[in-house]
Amino acid sequence: MAKLTVRALNVNGKRVLVRVDFNVPMDANGEITDDRRIHAALPTINYLLSNGATVILASHLGKPKGKPNPKLSLRPVADRLAKILDRQVYFAPDCVGSNVVRFLQKVPPNSLALLENLRFHPGEEKNERDFAKALATLADLYVNDAFGTAHRAHASTTGVTAFFAQPVAGLLMEKELQFLTPLLETPPQPFIVIIGGAKISDKAGVIKNLLPRVDRLLIGGGVAFNFLKARGYPIGKSIWEPNLMAEVVCLEKNPKIVLPVDVVVTSSPDTENGRTVEIENIGPDEIGLDIGDKTIHNFTQIITTGKTVVWAGPMGMFEKHPFQYGTIAIAQAIAVATENGATTVAGGGDTIATLKKAGVSDRLSHISTGGSATLEFLEGKELPGITALMDEL
Ligand code: AMP
Repeated sequence: MAKLTVRALNVNGKRVLVRVDFNVPMDANGEITDDRRIHAALPTINYLLSNGATVILASHLGKPKGKPNPKLSLRPVADRLAKILDRQVYFAPDCVGSNVVRFLQKVPPNSLALLENLRFHPGEEKNERDFAKALATLADLYVNDAFGTAHRAHASTTGVTAFFAQPVAGLLMEKELQFLTPLLETPPQPFIVIIGGAKISDKAGVIKNLLPRVDRLLIGGGVAFNFLKARGYPIGKSIWEPNLMAEVVCLEKNPKIVLPVDVVVTSSPDTENGRTVEIENIGPDEIGLDIGDKTIHNFTQIITTGKTVVWAGPMGMFEKHPFQYGTIAIAQAIAVATENGATTVAGGGDTIATLKKAGVSDRLSHISTGGSATLEFLEGKELPGITALMDEL
């Protein structure tokens, strides 16, 4: 069911609370390393400002675990947004409470404000009613444009909607849904999904639920070592999660799963030395940090014959040289698949950063702002942040 969007509201003269996803990557000095998520929110922000609204943006950043943490302040995001839009962004000292109410009273009509990190309060992730209500009191209308957080039932994505007559989707949310809904209903086949990243605990549910829908599920990154271990291969000191082993042992039997046949190993991630070994030859003290050439070849062959290709999660520790090549090669294979006529989607912060590194950002059908949210949507799961919005009339 399509969702009502911000276009359906009369926003002129109203205060509009917009949940955005400004969870941008930052380096150790607090510099934003990739501002795509800020750019992705601009259509909704510009729409609201040009239609006379006062815009109050709310987001989380990182994992402050319910406590204020100056390193995870959204102030650098406010500064970057001000620079991008060349207009003032009023940065609130907090996201709820009397100080914020007073602060917002002083903000001139038809201007732009950003609240401090929502996750500085435990009520956000616990979806506490009082916290949601405190947020809701700041505005007349509510828009959710944070597709990347829609799979989480938090106060700012679900709880808050109870206090507005017509909670609606923003333009980014609309764009994501317009692109992904046909892939959920009738994905052109072969349907290939590629999953990587560090942790199997985040991905086991997604893998299980996607398997019946896909033709092939390629697994790389740290996630693959859980499967290799389940198949009895030595994985040395590579990353794996013992508590997920029982589940992986069941999943591993599915013939749609394709695993690495060789990997790049090292004695320490801090060295710049890597050597490629077959998976049966990983040494007891070695760590697998990338997929090897034969695996790249196998994965590329499958990807380039797909008609729907979805990718989330790097194939290795791509931030470090020389463990980036597998991830870059997969990004390039997906670009080729697009040129061969496939519908291609990549999602998630790391994956987007890699597309940039591989120079193929403009060669995919769609770059989704969601990683887990995109995969869960394509599993057919209800995303609470989307369910909570008004259906189109
Ligand atoms: P995720 O958030 O689960 O998508 O994980 C992304 C992170 O996984 C990146 O920071 C990668 O460095 C890391 N990663 C990918 N492959 C491996 C691996 N084989 N061992 C350790 N970390 C990995």
